[in-house]
Amino acid sequence: MVDLTNIVSLCKRRGFIFQSSEIYGGLASVWDYGPLGVEMKNNIKKSWWQSMVYERDDIEGLDAAILMDKDVWRASGHVGSFADLLVDCMGCKKRFRTDLLILRQSQDGKCPECGGDLTQPRQFNLMFKTKVGSVENQGDEIFLRPETAQGIFVNFLNVLSSSRKKLPFGIAQIGKSFRNEITAGNFTFRSREFEQMELEYFVHPEEADKWYEYWLNERLSWYSKLGMNKDNLKLREHEKKELAHYAKRCHDIEYNFPFGCSELEGIANRSDFDLRQHSSISGKGLDYYDEGKKERITPYIIEPSGGVDRTFLAFLIDAYREENVRGEKRVVLGLHKKLAPIKIAVLPLLRNRTEIVELAKKILSNLKKDRRVVYDDTASIGRLYRRQDEIGTLFCITVDVESLSDNKVTVRDRDTMKQDRVSVDKLEEYVEEKMEE
Ligand code: ATP
Repeated sequence: MVDLTNIVSLCKRRGFIFQSSEIYGGLASVWDYGPLGVEMKNNIKKSWWQSMVYERDDIEGLDAAILMDKDVWRASGHVGSFADLLVDCMGCKKRFRTDLLILRQSQDGKCPECGGDLTQPRQFNLMFKTKVGSVENQGDEIFLRPETAQGIFVNFLNVLSSSRKKLPFGIAQIGKSFRNEITAGNFTFRSREFEQMELEYFVHPEEADKWYEYWLNERLSWYSKLGMNKDNLKLREHEKKELAHYAKRCHDIEYNFPFGCSELEGIANRSDFDLRQHSSISGKGLDYYDEGKKERITPYIIEPSGGVDRTFLAFLIDAYREENVRGEKRVVLGLHKKLAPIKIAVLPLLRNRTEIVELAKKILSNLKKDRRVVYDDTASIGRLYRRQDEIGTLFCITVDVESLSDNKVTVRDRDTMKQDRVSVDKLEEYVEEKMEE
């Protein structure tokens, strides 16, 4: 298993992730995605959206606002109970969530890091507050959403009536969420600003168990279809005492991170809690008329809720490998084709030969229409290959002196390092085929 420090350093060095406001000393647990990071993050979101919305007939998309009426958070229970119980170590001053200490079996009242004494648990509400209105010190206090799910629940009727869906159907959303995490850390794993990919799947209460099992399997296989090693994934069912106030049942999909197995995504049976709560506080009936059964019901909700940032980190860790190639270390990010930030690098073998550069630029401009392709001539070919391997680029296309006479270029595969000589006219087709494989 790769050391997290290797990942952190690769992310900074190659432009995947930077600390927020770094030149001012850095804002703790807030992260910026650099040129490669934003590509990979977009690819993750695209793959999720593809599998949740485009490949199905029963799910619609939504993009609700981050700011919502304060009563939403009263109804959801976040105002009253979205708080962590925390303890501080009087020795090393580290802070821990008591629920995580229980999971780590550290219940002896001592710090799991240094063995020091712990304070009594204290409550911290995790929601960020802000104000609506332009006059200083006036206006209504509202919250930055701590989850995207509530934007879906309050739009249940809007989506239902505009899309004419029948049960079972789902609403999918990807968006930013904010939590004032006190025990932040482990790089991007626990951030204060992060993105969630959430599906709320509305079902007849009698079918809730069936759909719960269905989504457990669907979601697990999404990660492995995108290349994540199955041995690093684990399903863990929540014990009764661990369940959130709205949940009847919950499983976590955990990933074997270098700092231990931890949650990537939660799949919960939220019952009819949310729709009933919003009905009761807003006064609007959020129910559904089942024409088949001729009855009015409040649907149950099965929720697969994942984090973009944790998924990103897990895919990076999973893809990272160091190999020995003819006595030299080669770092490769073996990312799935769909996730790799750069698909192709075009590399002229001689940067001072005008014809070679011209041909390379022509290839670049043809290929980049449909995918992310880069051009690099700033080092020797061996160095250029290593640079591209380290960021997971799928193919390197090299233009050499021979290309000028035979109109062929060398295409090198990231994983096998095998090289094919391909006619320039057939490149587009060749790449398409490889991307489909
Ligand atoms: P944890 O117990 O690790 O704090 P959680 O159970 O509170 O997580 P959920 O409320 O179930 O998390 O949120 C759904 C998903 O959103 C999580 O599985 C995770 O991928 C992501 N997520 C939640 N909090 C954070 C965070 N602070 N930073 C990054 N991702 C997060």
